[in-house]
Amino acid sequence: MSSIVDEVFGRFLESKIFANREFLRPEYIPDELPHREEQISRLASALAPILRGERGSNVFIYGLTGTGKTVVTKFVVRKLHNRAISLRLKFGHAYVNCRQSDTPYRVFADLAESVGVKVPFTGLSTAEVFRRFLRGLKANYSSFLVVLDEVDYLVKKYGDDVLYRIVRIGETIPSIKISVIGITNDINLVESLDMRIRSSLGEVEIVFPPYNAEQLKDILQRRAEKAFNPNALDEGVIELCAALAAREHGDARRALDLLRIAGEIAEREGAKKVTIDHVYKAREEIERDRVRELVYTMPLHAKLVLLAIYSMSMDKGYTITGEVYNQYTKFCKTIRVEQVTRRRVSDIISELDMLGLIQSKVVSRGRYGKTRIIRPVVKPDIVLKTLESDIRLEKIVKSIRI
Ligand code: ADP
Ligand code: MG
Repeated sequence: MSSIVDEVFGRFLESKIFANREFLRPEYIPDELPHREEQISRLASALAPILRGERGSNVFIYGLTGTGKTVVTKFVVRKLHNRAISLRLKFGHAYVNCRQSDTPYRVFADLAESVGVKVPFTGLSTAEVFRRFLRGLKANYSSFLVVLDEVDYLVKKYGDDVLYRIVRIGETIPSIKISVIGITNDINLVESLDMRIRSSLGEVEIVFPPYNAEQLKDILQRRAEKAFNPNALDEGVIELCAALAAREHGDARRALDLLRIAGEIAEREGAKKVTIDHVYKAREEIERDRVRELVYTMPLHAKLVLLAIYSMSMDKGYTITGEVYNQYTKFCKTIRVEQVTRRRVSDIISELDMLGLIQSKVVSRGRYGKTRIIRPVVKPDIVLKTLESDIRLEKIVKSIRI
Protein backbone atom coordinates (compact mmCIF):
# COMPACT_ATOMS: atom_id res chain seq x y z
CA MET A 1 0.00 0.00 0.00
CA SER A 2 2.64 2.48 0.98
CA SER A 3 4.22 2.18 -2.45
CA ILE A 4 0.98 3.41 -4.00
CA VAL A 5 0.99 6.42 -1.74
CA ASP A 6 4.64 7.12 -2.54
CA GLU A 7 3.90 6.84 -6.19
CA VAL A 8 1.00 9.29 -6.01
CA PHE A 9 3.02 11.78 -3.93
CA GLY A 10 5.98 11.37 -6.23
CA ARG A 11 3.93 12.02 -9.32
CA PHE A 12 2.41 15.06 -7.67
CA LEU A 13 5.79 16.55 -6.77
CA GLU A 14 7.26 15.80 -10.15
CA SER A 15 4.28 17.27 -11.95
CA LYS A 16 5.30 19.03 -15.08
CA ILE A 17 1.82 20.48 -15.38
CA PHE A 18 1.21 23.02 -12.63
CA ALA A 19 3.60 25.71 -11.51
CA ASN A 20 1.07 26.92 -8.95
CA ARG A 21 -2.55 25.95 -9.19
CA GLU A 22 -3.56 28.59 -6.62
CA PHE A 23 -3.83 31.04 -9.50
CA LEU A 24 -6.77 29.06 -10.87
CA ARG A 25 -8.74 28.88 -7.63
CA PRO A 26 -12.04 30.75 -7.61
CA GLU A 27 -11.11 32.70 -4.45
CA TYR A 28 -7.87 34.06 -5.85
CA ILE A 29 -7.95 37.77 -6.75
CA PRO A 30 -5.68 38.44 -9.74
CA ASP A 31 -3.72 41.69 -10.16
CA GLU A 32 -5.36 42.35 -13.49
CA LEU A 33 -8.91 41.79 -14.63
CA PRO A 34 -9.07 42.03 -18.40
CA HIS A 35 -12.29 43.26 -20.01
CA ARG A 36 -13.62 44.77 -16.82
CA GLU A 37 -11.86 48.13 -17.08
CA GLU A 38 -15.11 50.05 -17.40
CA GLN A 39 -16.77 48.36 -14.42
CA ILE A 40 -13.65 48.82 -12.29
CA SER A 41 -13.43 52.47 -13.16
CA ARG A 42 -17.12 53.14 -12.47
CA LEU A 43 -17.00 51.35 -9.14
CA ALA A 44 -13.81 53.16 -8.15
CA SER A 45 -15.38 56.52 -9.06
CA ALA A 46 -18.47 55.75 -7.00
CA LEU A 47 -16.36 54.95 -3.95
CA ALA A 48 -13.56 57.51 -4.37
CA PRO A 49 -15.30 60.24 -2.28
CA ILE A 50 -14.70 58.01 0.75
CA LEU A 51 -11.00 58.86 0.49
CA ARG A 52 -11.82 62.54 0.99
CA GLY A 53 -13.92 61.78 4.03
CA GLU A 54 -17.19 62.07 2.12
CA ARG A 55 -19.86 59.48 1.58
CA GLY A 56 -19.41 57.17 -1.37
CA SER A 57 -22.35 56.42 -3.64
CA ASN A 58 -24.43 53.33 -3.08
CA VAL A 59 -23.94 50.91 -5.93
CA PHE A 60 -26.12 48.22 -7.39
CA ILE A 61 -24.24 45.61 -9.42
CA TYR A 62 -25.89 43.01 -11.60
CA GLY A 63 -24.98 40.33 -14.10
CA LEU A 64 -25.17 36.56 -14.58
CA THR A 65 -22.95 34.18 -12.60
CA GLY A 66 -19.30 34.12 -13.52
CA THR A 67 -19.21 37.59 -15.03
CA GLY A 68 -16.69 38.88 -12.49
CA LYS A 69 -18.94 40.80 -10.10
CA THR A 70 -17.43 39.41 -6.92
CA VAL A 71 -13.82 39.53 -8.02
CA VAL A 72 -14.08 43.08 -9.38
CA THR A 73 -15.75 44.29 -6.19
CA LYS A 74 -13.16 42.65 -3.95
CA PHE A 75 -10.37 44.01 -6.11
CA VAL A 76 -11.61 47.60 -5.89
CA VAL A 77 -12.54 47.40 -2.22
CA ARG A 78 -9.11 46.04 -1.34
CA LYS A 79 -7.39 48.96 -3.08
CA LEU A 80 -9.77 51.40 -1.45
CA HIS A 81 -9.09 49.91 1.94
CA ASN A 82 -5.32 50.17 1.52
CA ARG A 83 -5.54 53.78 0.42
CA ALA A 84 -7.87 54.67 3.25
CA ILE A 85 -5.56 53.10 5.80
CA SER A 86 -2.52 54.93 4.45
CA LEU A 87 -4.53 58.17 4.70
CA ARG A 88 -5.26 57.27 8.33
CA LEU A 89 -9.00 57.40 7.80
CA LYS A 90 -11.24 55.64 10.27
CA PHE A 91 -12.59 53.52 7.45
CA GLY A 92 -13.83 49.96 7.58
CA HIS A 93 -15.73 47.58 5.40
CA ALA A 94 -17.74 44.39 5.63
CA TYR A 95 -18.18 41.76 2.96
CA VAL A 96 -21.20 39.52 3.44
CA ASN A 97 -22.15 36.68 1.13
CA CYS A 98 -25.91 36.38 1.55
CA ARG A 99 -26.02 32.90 0.08
CA GLN A 100 -23.75 31.60 2.83
CA SER A 101 -25.10 33.88 5.54
CA ASP A 102 -28.67 33.31 4.50
CA THR A 103 -30.74 34.72 7.37
CA PRO A 104 -31.10 38.29 8.63
CA TYR A 105 -29.49 37.11 11.87
CA ARG A 106 -26.40 35.78 10.07
CA VAL A 107 -26.10 38.91 7.93
CA PHE A 108 -26.18 41.21 10.96
CA ALA A 109 -23.84 38.88 12.84
CA ASP A 110 -21.32 39.09 9.99
CA LEU A 111 -21.64 42.87 9.99
CA ALA A 112 -21.16 42.97 13.75
CA GLU A 113 -18.07 40.81 13.51
CA SER A 114 -16.58 43.05 10.88
CA VAL A 115 -16.72 45.97 13.32
CA GLY A 116 -15.10 43.87 16.00
CA VAL A 117 -18.21 42.75 17.90
CA LYS A 118 -18.50 39.03 18.56
CA VAL A 119 -22.01 37.63 18.33
CA PRO A 120 -23.11 34.16 19.46
CA PHE A 121 -24.29 31.80 16.75
CA THR A 122 -27.85 31.96 18.07
CA GLY A 123 -29.64 33.24 21.14
CA LEU A 124 -30.03 36.96 20.55
CA SER A 125 -32.86 38.64 18.75
CA THR A 126 -32.11 39.89 15.25
CA ALA A 127 -32.81 43.43 16.42
CA GLU A 128 -30.27 43.07 19.21
CA VAL A 129 -27.58 41.85 16.81
CA PHE A 130 -28.26 44.85 14.62
CA ARG A 131 -28.00 47.21 17.62
CA ARG A 132 -24.63 45.71 18.55
CA PHE A 133 -23.40 46.22 15.01
CA LEU A 134 -24.46 49.88 15.15
CA ARG A 135 -22.74 50.33 18.49
CA GLY A 136 -19.49 48.87 17.16
CA LEU A 137 -19.80 50.99 14.05
CA LYS A 138 -20.24 54.22 16.04
CA ALA A 139 -17.41 53.43 18.38
CA ASN A 140 -14.77 52.70 15.74
CA TYR A 141 -15.45 54.30 12.37
CA SER A 142 -16.18 57.53 10.61
CA SER A 143 -16.85 55.87 7.27
CA PHE A 144 -17.93 52.38 6.40
CA LEU A 145 -18.71 50.30 3.33
CA VAL A 146 -21.09 47.34 3.38
CA VAL A 147 -20.90 44.83 0.53
CA LEU A 148 -23.87 42.50 0.26
CA ASP A 149 -23.00 39.86 -2.31
CA GLU A 150 -25.63 37.53 -3.81
CA VAL A 151 -28.24 39.65 -2.08
CA ASP A 152 -30.97 38.09 -4.25
CA TYR A 153 -30.89 34.99 -2.01
CA LEU A 154 -31.70 37.06 1.04
CA VAL A 155 -34.42 39.14 -0.61
CA LYS A 156 -36.15 36.11 -2.10
CA LYS A 157 -36.34 34.38 1.26
CA TYR A 158 -36.88 37.25 3.65
CA GLY A 159 -37.99 40.24 1.60
CA ASP A 160 -36.13 43.52 1.47
CA ASP A 161 -36.36 44.55 5.11
CA VAL A 162 -32.69 43.85 5.87
CA LEU A 163 -31.62 45.84 2.87
CA TYR A 164 -33.88 48.68 3.91
CA ARG A 165 -32.40 48.83 7.38
CA ILE A 166 -28.86 48.81 6.05
CA VAL A 167 -29.31 51.55 3.44
CA ARG A 168 -30.97 53.69 6.12
CA ILE A 169 -28.16 53.51 8.69
CA GLY A 170 -26.78 56.78 7.38
CA GLU A 171 -30.01 58.55 8.29
CA THR A 172 -30.03 57.25 11.83
CA ILE A 173 -26.33 57.85 12.46
CA PRO A 174 -25.42 60.93 10.41
CA SER A 175 -21.94 61.05 11.95
CA ILE A 176 -20.92 57.99 9.94
CA LYS A 177 -20.57 58.06 6.18
CA ILE A 178 -21.95 54.74 5.09
CA SER A 179 -22.17 53.30 1.59
CA VAL A 180 -23.67 50.04 0.42
CA ILE A 181 -22.86 47.84 -2.54
CA GLY A 182 -25.56 45.31 -3.43
CA ILE A 183 -24.63 42.54 -5.87
CA THR A 184 -27.14 40.26 -7.57
CA ASN A 185 -27.10 37.44 -10.11
CA ASP A 186 -30.79 37.87 -10.65
CA ILE A 187 -31.45 40.80 -12.89
CA ASN A 188 -35.15 40.79 -12.06
CA LEU A 189 -34.44 41.45 -8.40
CA VAL A 190 -34.60 45.19 -9.00
CA GLU A 191 -38.28 45.02 -9.84
CA SER A 192 -39.18 43.23 -6.63
CA LEU A 193 -37.54 45.87 -4.43
CA ASP A 194 -39.39 48.64 -2.65
CA MET A 195 -39.08 51.92 -4.56
CA ARG A 196 -37.25 53.64 -1.72
CA ILE A 197 -34.57 50.96 -1.57
CA ARG A 198 -34.31 50.86 -5.30
CA SER A 199 -33.63 54.55 -5.66
CA SER A 200 -31.33 54.61 -2.67
CA LEU A 201 -29.26 51.54 -3.55
CA GLY A 202 -29.26 52.31 -7.25
CA GLU A 203 -27.47 55.67 -7.04
CA VAL A 204 -25.01 54.02 -9.35
CA GLU A 205 -25.88 50.90 -11.33
CA ILE A 206 -23.21 48.77 -12.95
CA VAL A 207 -24.04 45.98 -15.36
CA PHE A 208 -21.68 43.05 -15.94
CA PRO A 209 -22.36 41.59 -19.38
CA PRO A 210 -21.39 37.97 -20.17
CA TYR A 211 -17.91 37.44 -21.57
CA ASN A 212 -17.55 36.23 -25.14
CA ALA A 213 -15.14 33.46 -26.19
CA GLU A 214 -12.37 35.92 -27.13
CA GLN A 215 -12.55 37.65 -23.77
CA LEU A 216 -12.59 34.38 -21.88
CA LYS A 217 -9.51 33.36 -23.81
CA ASP A 218 -7.66 36.48 -22.61
CA ILE A 219 -8.74 35.88 -19.04
CA LEU A 220 -7.63 32.26 -19.11
CA GLN A 221 -4.35 33.06 -20.81
CA ARG A 222 -3.25 35.53 -18.15
CA ARG A 223 -4.12 33.23 -15.31
CA ALA A 224 -2.64 30.19 -17.07
CA GLU A 225 0.73 31.90 -17.49
CA LYS A 226 1.15 31.87 -13.73
CA ALA A 227 -0.61 28.61 -12.95
CA PHE A 228 1.01 26.26 -15.48
CA ASN A 229 4.58 25.42 -16.33
CA PRO A 230 5.78 26.66 -19.70
CA ASN A 231 4.65 24.34 -22.51
CA ALA A 232 2.31 22.41 -20.23
CA LEU A 233 -0.71 23.37 -22.32
CA ASP A 234 -1.19 21.81 -25.70
CA GLU A 235 -2.33 23.94 -28.57
CA GLY A 236 -6.04 24.75 -28.55
CA VAL A 237 -6.63 23.91 -24.87
CA ILE A 238 -7.33 27.45 -23.74
CA GLU A 239 -9.44 28.16 -26.83
CA LEU A 240 -11.56 25.09 -26.17
CA CYS A 241 -12.16 25.96 -22.49
CA ALA A 242 -13.12 29.48 -23.57
CA ALA A 243 -15.45 28.27 -26.31
CA LEU A 244 -17.23 25.77 -24.07
CA ALA A 245 -17.73 28.34 -21.31
CA ALA A 246 -18.88 30.98 -23.78
CA ARG A 247 -21.75 28.68 -24.65
CA GLU A 248 -22.68 28.60 -20.99
CA HIS A 249 -23.60 32.28 -20.91
CA GLY A 250 -19.98 33.47 -20.81
CA ASP A 251 -19.21 32.12 -17.37
CA ALA A 252 -15.57 32.76 -16.40
CA ARG A 253 -15.89 30.43 -13.44
CA ARG A 254 -16.83 27.59 -15.73
CA ALA A 255 -13.89 28.39 -18.02
CA LEU A 256 -11.43 28.36 -15.11
CA ASP A 257 -12.92 25.15 -13.70
CA LEU A 258 -12.52 23.42 -17.04
CA LEU A 259 -8.89 24.47 -17.30
CA ARG A 260 -8.04 23.57 -13.71
CA ILE A 261 -9.75 20.20 -13.80
CA ALA A 262 -8.24 19.37 -17.20
CA GLY A 263 -4.84 20.08 -15.62
CA GLU A 264 -5.63 17.86 -12.66
CA ILE A 265 -6.71 15.01 -14.91
CA ALA A 266 -3.51 15.35 -16.96
CA GLU A 267 -1.52 15.27 -13.75
CA ARG A 268 -3.33 12.19 -12.46
CA GLU A 269 -2.62 10.42 -15.72
CA GLY A 270 1.02 11.39 -15.50
CA ALA A 271 0.76 13.16 -18.86
CA LYS A 272 3.37 15.67 -19.96
CA LYS A 273 0.84 18.12 -21.35
CA VAL A 274 -2.78 19.09 -20.94
CA THR A 275 -4.54 18.15 -24.15
CA ILE A 276 -7.92 18.84 -25.71
CA ASP A 277 -8.89 15.36 -24.67
CA HIS A 278 -8.32 16.30 -21.02
CA VAL A 279 -10.63 19.28 -21.45
CA TYR A 280 -13.43 17.04 -22.72
CA LYS A 281 -12.84 14.72 -19.79
CA ALA A 282 -12.99 17.71 -17.46
CA ARG A 283 -16.29 18.73 -18.99
CA GLU A 284 -17.65 15.30 -18.33
CA GLU A 285 -16.43 15.35 -14.74
CA ILE A 286 -18.11 18.70 -14.14
CA GLU A 287 -21.29 17.46 -15.80
CA ARG A 288 -21.25 14.33 -13.66
CA ASP A 289 -20.92 16.35 -10.47
CA ARG A 290 -23.74 18.66 -11.52
CA VAL A 291 -26.06 15.78 -12.38
CA ARG A 292 -25.21 13.93 -9.18
CA GLU A 293 -25.96 16.94 -7.08
CA LEU A 294 -29.32 17.46 -8.79
CA VAL A 295 -30.40 13.84 -8.89
CA TYR A 296 -29.34 12.75 -5.38
CA THR A 297 -31.77 15.09 -3.69
CA MET A 298 -34.71 14.45 -6.03
CA PRO A 299 -37.89 12.85 -4.66
CA LEU A 300 -38.49 9.20 -5.58
CA HIS A 301 -41.14 9.83 -8.24
CA ALA A 302 -39.00 12.37 -10.04
CA LYS A 303 -36.23 9.78 -10.12
CA LEU A 304 -38.62 7.18 -11.50
CA VAL A 305 -39.83 9.50 -14.25
CA LEU A 306 -36.24 10.41 -15.11
CA LEU A 307 -35.37 6.73 -15.27
CA ALA A 308 -38.39 6.03 -17.47
CA ILE A 309 -37.30 8.77 -19.88
CA TYR A 310 -33.72 7.58 -20.12
CA SER A 311 -34.71 3.93 -20.49
CA MET A 312 -37.36 4.58 -23.16
CA SER A 313 -35.06 6.72 -25.30
CA MET A 314 -32.16 4.29 -25.34
CA ASP A 315 -32.76 3.15 -28.93
CA LYS A 316 -34.45 6.06 -30.68
CA GLY A 317 -32.73 8.89 -28.83
CA TYR A 318 -36.10 10.28 -27.78
CA THR A 319 -39.39 9.24 -26.24
CA ILE A 320 -42.91 10.63 -25.81
CA THR A 321 -45.16 11.37 -22.83
CA GLY A 322 -47.34 8.25 -23.19
CA GLU A 323 -44.38 5.89 -23.28
CA VAL A 324 -42.84 7.58 -20.29
CA TYR A 325 -46.03 7.24 -18.30
CA ASN A 326 -46.41 3.55 -19.12
CA GLN A 327 -42.83 2.77 -18.25
CA TYR A 328 -43.07 4.81 -15.06
CA THR A 329 -46.20 2.84 -14.08
CA LYS A 330 -44.32 -0.44 -14.59
CA PHE A 331 -41.47 0.75 -12.43
CA CYS A 332 -43.89 1.73 -9.68
CA LYS A 333 -45.38 -1.77 -9.75
CA THR A 334 -41.96 -3.40 -9.66
CA ILE A 335 -40.89 -1.58 -6.54
CA ARG A 336 -44.42 -1.55 -5.09
CA VAL A 337 -45.08 2.13 -4.67
CA GLU A 338 -48.27 3.92 -5.52
CA GLN A 339 -48.01 5.89 -8.73
CA VAL A 340 -48.77 9.59 -9.04
CA THR A 341 -51.26 11.02 -11.57
CA ARG A 342 -50.60 11.63 -15.26
CA ARG A 343 -50.90 15.34 -14.57
CA ARG A 344 -48.18 15.14 -11.88
CA VAL A 345 -45.87 13.14 -14.17
CA SER A 346 -46.30 15.85 -16.77
CA ASP A 347 -45.30 18.48 -14.19
CA ILE A 348 -42.27 16.41 -13.23
CA ILE A 349 -41.23 16.29 -16.89
CA SER A 350 -41.35 20.10 -17.01
CA GLU A 351 -39.28 20.32 -13.84
CA LEU A 352 -36.65 17.94 -15.24
CA ASP A 353 -36.52 20.11 -18.32
CA MET A 354 -35.92 23.23 -16.24
CA LEU A 355 -33.11 21.50 -14.37
CA GLY A 356 -31.43 20.79 -17.70
CA LEU A 357 -31.63 17.01 -17.37
CA ILE A 358 -33.87 16.54 -20.40
CA GLN A 359 -35.32 18.60 -23.23
CA SER A 360 -38.99 18.45 -24.11
CA LYS A 361 -41.00 19.95 -26.91
CA VAL A 362 -44.75 19.90 -27.47
CA VAL A 363 -45.75 18.65 -30.93
CA SER A 364 -49.15 18.25 -32.52
CA ARG A 365 -50.10 14.77 -33.74
CA GLY A 366 -53.09 15.83 -35.80
CA ARG A 367 -56.27 14.19 -34.66
CA TYR A 368 -54.43 12.33 -31.90
CA GLY A 369 -53.95 15.61 -30.12
CA LYS A 370 -50.68 16.81 -28.67
CA THR A 371 -47.75 15.04 -27.14
CA ARG A 372 -44.32 15.93 -25.93
CA ILE A 373 -41.13 14.71 -27.52
CA ILE A 374 -38.59 14.21 -24.78
CA ARG A 375 -34.86 13.86 -25.28
CA PRO A 376 -32.08 13.08 -22.83
CA VAL A 377 -29.41 15.78 -22.73
CA VAL A 378 -26.93 14.12 -20.39
CA LYS A 379 -24.92 11.01 -21.21
CA PRO A 380 -27.27 8.17 -20.18
CA ASP A 381 -24.48 6.44 -18.32
CA ILE A 382 -24.05 9.38 -15.95
CA VAL A 383 -27.75 9.50 -15.11
CA LEU A 384 -28.12 5.74 -14.73
CA LYS A 385 -25.09 5.43 -12.47
CA THR A 386 -26.42 8.14 -10.21
CA LEU A 387 -29.88 6.57 -10.05
CA GLU A 388 -28.37 3.18 -9.37
CA SER A 389 -26.88 4.47 -6.15
CA ASP A 390 -30.41 4.79 -4.75
CA ILE A 391 -30.99 1.31 -3.29
CA ARG A 392 -34.70 1.47 -4.09
CA LEU A 393 -33.84 1.76 -7.78
CA GLU A 394 -30.75 -0.40 -7.92
CA LYS A 395 -32.46 -3.49 -9.35
CA ILE A 396 -34.45 -1.69 -12.04
CA VAL A 397 -31.41 0.26 -13.20
CA LYS A 398 -29.34 -2.93 -13.39
CA SER A 399 -31.97 -4.58 -15.57
CA ILE A 400 -31.94 -1.61 -17.95
CA ARG A 401 -28.17 -1.31 -18.21
CA ILE A 402 -27.69 -4.88 -19.38
P1 ADP B 1 -19.62 36.43 -10.25
O1 ADP B 1 -19.43 37.00 -8.89
O2 ADP B 1 -20.11 37.42 -11.25
O3 ADP B 1 -20.44 35.17 -10.25
P2 ADP B 1 -16.80 35.96 -10.04
O4 ADP B 1 -16.33 37.33 -9.74
O5 ADP B 1 -16.88 35.02 -8.88
O6 ADP B 1 -18.20 35.99 -10.81
O7 ADP B 1 -15.89 35.35 -11.18
C1 ADP B 1 -15.86 33.97 -11.45
C2 ADP B 1 -14.44 33.49 -11.60
O8 ADP B 1 -13.85 34.06 -12.75
C3 ADP B 1 -13.56 33.90 -10.43
O9 ADP B 1 -12.62 32.87 -10.20
C4 ADP B 1 -12.86 35.14 -10.95
O10 ADP B 1 -11.59 35.28 -10.34
C5 ADP B 1 -12.74 34.87 -12.43
N1 ADP B 1 -12.83 36.09 -13.23
C6 ADP B 1 -13.95 36.73 -13.59
N2 ADP B 1 -13.66 37.80 -14.36
C7 ADP B 1 -12.32 37.81 -14.50
C8 ADP B 1 -11.41 38.65 -15.22
N3 ADP B 1 -11.84 39.70 -15.93
N4 ADP B 1 -10.09 38.36 -15.15
C9 ADP B 1 -9.64 37.31 -14.44
N5 ADP B 1 -10.45 36.46 -13.76
C10 ADP B 1 -11.77 36.71 -13.78
MG1 MG C 1 -20.25 36.30 -7.11
